[in-house]
Amino acid sequence: MALSHALVREETHESTASLRLRIRQKLEAGCLLYESAPRLFGAPGTGKECDACGLVLDPAQLVMAIPLPHDTTFVLLHGDCFVLWDDVRRKPT
Ligand SMILES: [Zn+2]
Repeated sequence: MALSHALVREETHESTASLRLRIRQKLEAGCLLYESAPRLFGAPGTGKECDACGLVLDPAQLVMAIPLPHDTTFVLLHGDCFVLWDDVRRKPT
């Protein structure tokens, strides 16, 4: 019982760690911004892919839409991915 619980925790931790790495790579590649979002919109999912984890943004989920300063497009993130991005971009290696 205790062992399976530990395994589940470890698995969750692992996927979060790999997502953090993916977000950091996107920051370094310029696909995500280091700056904090001056404006932010909450919107329902559009069926497009999340710019952090790459999974589809389901219309039933709340999506964070961050306007790019020099573009007319938006960075679209899951709520959870937004929280991770906001954390990763504050801690550059
Ligand atoms: Zn995501």
